[in-house]
Amino acid sequence: PPALDIENLRKEYNDVTALDGVSLTVPEGSFFGLLGPNGAGKTTFINILVGLVRKSGGTARVFGHDVEDDYRETRNAIGLAPQEFNVDRFFPIREVLEHKAGYHGVPASEAADRADEVLKQVGIYDKRDTRFDWLSGGMKRRFLLARALITDPDLLILDEPTAGVDVQLRRDLWELVTKLNDQGKTILLTTHYIEEAERLCDEVAILDSGQVRTVATPAELKDRG
Ligand code: ADP
Ligand code: ADP
Repeated sequence: PPALDIENLRKEYNDVTALDGVSLTVPEGSFFGLLGPNGAGKTTFINILVGLVRKSGGTARVFGHDVEDDYRETRNAIGLAPQEFNVDRFFPIREVLEHKAGYHGVPASEAADRADEVLKQVGIYDKRDTRFDWLSGGMKRRFLLARALITDPDLLILDEPTAGVDVQLRRDLWELVTKLNDQGKTILLTTHYIEEAERLCDEVAILDSGQVRTVATPAELKDRG
């Protein structure tokens, strides 16, 4: 099954229609971009996939699992690197990762190794004993990726992964996520930067007022201006 199979997905918050019949297919292994202005419905879309928001209608399947009926399977397939930095501030980042691995069923004897592995993967292993609060902005971004990777998910969701970061860091993060995609992870990325989508994505959906306006390759988007 595809990584994402979305049909006529709807979400209403009281009188606000956040998703107005979204249909999308994201093939396994692809690097897929979700673009759109503020208020387009991107966060709502992601939150439905990870079980934080209940849909009002339609279907959403992750590798064939229904996001609501098969919550556990869906959740275990997804690693989310969120936009907000709500990370435990009182423990070294390595312990935060170990804890999360344990919570997801990794035996204690393996959790430490798993934490070290993802810290190395994102290039902050030397900061393992540091608390999140004390990391630089760039290292915080890397840590959020490490946290998303701790369960070895097949689908990685990156919500505005480079918002507000400088050019050099943006390039480093681009290189890192490209490598993850090359290693076989399907990636769903939301971004405001059209250049970022052009650089990274195989395919892009443009969301506006809760509707998919276009699904195209970056080259096709460029041609249309
Ligand atoms: P985006 O992430 O693209 O900025 P959102 O999914 O956050 O879009 O928002 C889509 C629409 O839904 C907006 O009009 C927003 O104000 C509204 N919305 C989002 N969350 C809530 C909520 N919890 N209650 C009411 N309205 C919401
Ligand atoms: P799940 O849906 O499987 O519960 P979550 O993304 O909610 O997945 O992950 C829960 C894990 O994330 C917890 O083990 C916890 O360590 C970590 N976590 C989530 N939110 C916070 C937070 N505000 N502070 C610290 N840790 C958090």
